[in-house]
Amino acid sequence: MSSAPPLADRPDVAHYPGGEALYRLRHSAAHVLATAVTDLFPDVKVAGGPPIENGFYYDFARATPFTPEDLTRIEARMREIAAERQPFEYSETSREEAQERFEAAGEKYKLHFLSVIPPDAKVTYYRNGRFLDLCRGPHVATTGDIGAFKVTHVAGAYWLGNEMNEMLQRIYGTAFPNQAELDVHLKRIEEALKRDHRRLGKELDLFSIHEEVGPGLILWHPKGGMVRHQMESFWKEEHLKRGYQFVYTPHISNEKLFEISGHLQNYADIMYSPMDIDGQPYRPKPMNCPGHILIYQSRKHSYRDLPLRYAELGTVYRYERSGVLHGMERVRGFTQDDSHIFCTREQLADEIAGVLDLMDTLLGKFGYDYECYLATRPKEKYLGTEEEWDWATEALRQALERRGLPYQVDEGGGAFYAPKIDVKLKDALGREWQCPTVQVDLNLPKRFGVVYTGPDGQEHEAVMVHRALLGSLERFMGIYIEHTAGEFPVWLAPVQVAVIPANPKANDYAADTTKLLKDGGVRAIADLRDEKLGAKIRDAELEKIPYMLVVGPREAEAGTVAPRRKGVGQLEAMTREAFLARVDRESRERSG
Ligand SMILES: [Zn+2]
Ligand SMILES: [Zn+2]
Repeated sequence: MSSAPPLADRPDVAHYPGGEALYRLRHSAAHVLATAVTDLFPDVKVAGGPPIENGFYYDFARATPFTPEDLTRIEARMREIAAERQPFEYSETSREEAQERFEAAGEKYKLHFLSVIPPDAKVTYYRNGRFLDLCRGPHVATTGDIGAFKVTHVAGAYWLGNEMNEMLQRIYGTAFPNQAELDVHLKRIEEALKRDHRRLGKELDLFSIHEEVGPGLILWHPKGGMVRHQMESFWKEEHLKRGYQFVYTPHISNEKLFEISGHLQNYADIMYSPMDIDGQPYRPKPMNCPGHILIYQSRKHSYRDLPLRYAELGTVYRYERSGVLHGMERVRGFTQDDSHIFCTREQLADEIAGVLDLMDTLLGKFGYDYECYLATRPKEKYLGTEEEWDWATEALRQALERRGLPYQVDEGGGAFYAPKIDVKLKDALGREWQCPTVQVDLNLPKRFGVVYTGPDGQEHEAVMVHRALLGSLERFMGIYIEHTAGEFPVWLAPVQVAVIPANPKANDYAADTTKLLKDGGVRAIADLRDEKLGAKIRDAELEKIPYMLVVGPREAEAGTVAPRRKGVGQLEAMTREAFLARVDRESRERSG
């Protein structure tokens, strides 16, 4: 018997989150899953199943959908197979043998996988018990070594991820070295489900998606709109403080522009088809950069004008396959908090440092911790010279160091046209989300001929920085809903205060208090419905309104309120003015 091949050429294993041992464990668990399914449902055809982040899956073709009861039986069968401690046995075979075997069994998916094995690679199997799989490994020693596992759910998945192909059934599971780690993970999934922004978006009436509009296109409701308005106002104030200038560019433009920018050549697959306007092809914009460059170029600039910082909450449209769309987090139309900075080489490090400072202010206000990654020149395909990459990367590095930000180097992880700083936010569940990005473009200034006149009277190529700090407002909002579980801080809450009369006699005082708060700039509502007090309190709780003021005759007489702060509890009675000042103060604070 031959021994399993070395793992030298397996970046999927080397880079697996959690490491090689966990990869082995979960990959083996996927085989045990397939073993159980083929035992219990001999009519299935097997496709394939790799480890994925946090678990594994295996795809099956079967006419009848798997039910929750089926999943329970499958998991029970997996436990029996684990108890049998079947060894995972490696073997090599000829293409012909494999071809004949899978043809005889009618395993058309395996035949496909066989056909895409490179001519110089070996055809290899792993067997445990009666289950034999075309497989490169690696595995644990026996089915008894797959740790603590759970079958979690089943979902449809197109064969090879292509919507033109048939739908398979993908059974998901997860496995960890021990029960304690599995329990922590399952608890986190449960919490994530409770916080799912699609569910909270509906419950809190923040946004919706409609078939009539199209998948991946977001309608912001008044409450979501208020949150967005507050985000945008804060964002704009901070930009103005830092010398940014706001610009606005159209949603569509003549295709010619994207020919010059190179988007048509490099990003055609994410751009929407052209529409005919007066015989000219126009397209929705996938990026804001070309418009900003034209604004820059609409007049001559001397070095004394620089840096110029243009900012736009610019809406762009990009095609995403329907299978990957996910609420607000993965969409087809979104608004970037975009900016392009035009400067000289000498100014670059300062400009980046300024961007990082602004980023820290913005993310701090939302209560996020974050980590920075410096992504350097890709190994093979890149534009510009090595010298350009060196100084641009050095400027990014200097700025990070000057800000005292710890960072990791993502060697070769830059875009083909730019070294960049990518920043990942950490949410309340410990998940990481890449949102801010700062890139030094080594391509567009050349394509458009973006120049300034230097002190020597000569024209020089300007340096161009792209940066988005929240990323897209839609995605940021989706992530933020999950981070906060919909409990928005006072400064963002669509309704900040609910004033609830303890009985109808206090209605006037409740209405008067609400007016006073509103006049003071607080988003307050009076709940004067003909409902029981308990029901009103419960509704304000469900709406996750940060403050509740239950007012009765006693408060009316004293001119006070006794606030309840969500998550804190009952506060001492205070004058209405003191309460107003408190809400005002809290609106200005950092969320952290
Ligand atoms: Zn395998
Ligand atoms: Zn850009």
